[in-house]
Amino acid sequence: MARSTDSALRNWLEVLAQSWEQPPQGVAIDIADDEIKNRFTAYPIVREALLESPFDIQRFATAVKQCWVMGGHFDAIRFNRFINTGSDASNSIRTLIQGFPREESAAIKRIDGFLEQAVVLGFSTPQKTSDRAGAAQMASVILTSLLPERFADYRRTRWVKLAAEFGYATPPPKATHGEWVVWAGKFASEIASTPTYQEYWPPTDPRLSIPSWVISGLCWGGLIPSRRSPDPPDPDSRSFPEGAEKRRLHLIRERNPALVAGAKTLGLRRDPLLRCQVCGFSFVERYGDLGRGFIEAHHTLPVAQLKKGSRTSVDDIALVCSNCHRMIHSGEKSLEIDELRQLYQM
Ligand SMILES: [Zn+2]
Repeated sequence: MARSTDSALRNWLEVLAQSWEQPPQGVAIDIADDEIKNRFTAYPIVREALLESPFDIQRFATAVKQCWVMGGHFDAIRFNRFINTGSDASNSIRTLIQGFPREESAAIKRIDGFLEQAVVLGFSTPQKTSDRAGAAQMASVILTSLLPERFADYRRTRWVKLAAEFGYATPPPKATHGEWVVWAGKFASEIASTPTYQEYWPPTDPRLSIPSWVISGLCWGGLIPSRRSPDPPDPDSRSFPEGAEKRRLHLIRERNPALVAGAKTLGLRRDPLLRCQVCGFSFVERYGDLGRGFIEAHHTLPVAQLKKGSRTSVDDIALVCSNCHRMIHSGEKSLEIDELRQLYQM
């Protein structure tokens, strides 16, 4: 089992290194840099808030809101409702973490019990459907902050995709969310124990000292291989004065899933409609659920300034609709966001 996880991880890294035209070491660090940093910044603060006595639910809430994992619009509404129950929420969290059981089936029971309470205290949809999955996400953030050697942060779709890619067995169809949360932690531990992981993400590096947080970052930000066609939104490569090489680098960064995910999470926090920064178009507003979370990422650093191996931060990513993105790239030279906005407003 561990052997196939190891070869799946190595194979994925090699494929990615080839398409990025970077050595695997560079790719390994670059791929989910922002996702990993967010976890190393946010989880220790969540941990501190959880261990504080007396427990302060507002301080805990502020800490959790720094976690990108909890950044979705609907998660935030349900989470706030839960937090606003005050002492009820505090008690349920205390009951979850106090003397957390070592033994697996007891751990699952403990988590599932917490999820039932969280549903009653706010994790449900306006139609009163239980959102155990959302509550499980919160539980996983609590547990990975306190016990990172056993837990990872969790959203089922992400880990299931990764398990499928790695050939790792998933829980039975009727499994509870408690079972899934425990399973995701075990899967992350298995990845952490492979020789490939230890070679490329050595826990001796202080930025990588907690494997569960690194692997969660990778899982959310880029470890799941992209099966999409490699074609960028506009692959037109005719006479670019900046040179084809730099232009390719620019497009590769726009497709970096970690960056895009990070930029979208930030964007959603600023604007739940995720409007185009040029023309204001919102996919969710126009297309309803189909368009939820949809927007394209544009890398704003001038192509001429790009260097191989340099880092890109989420601040360098503009969120634009497909039309505007296409227009930005349609000329000989990419337009600045402001330039296109001026044209749009004329
Ligand atoms: Zn637009």
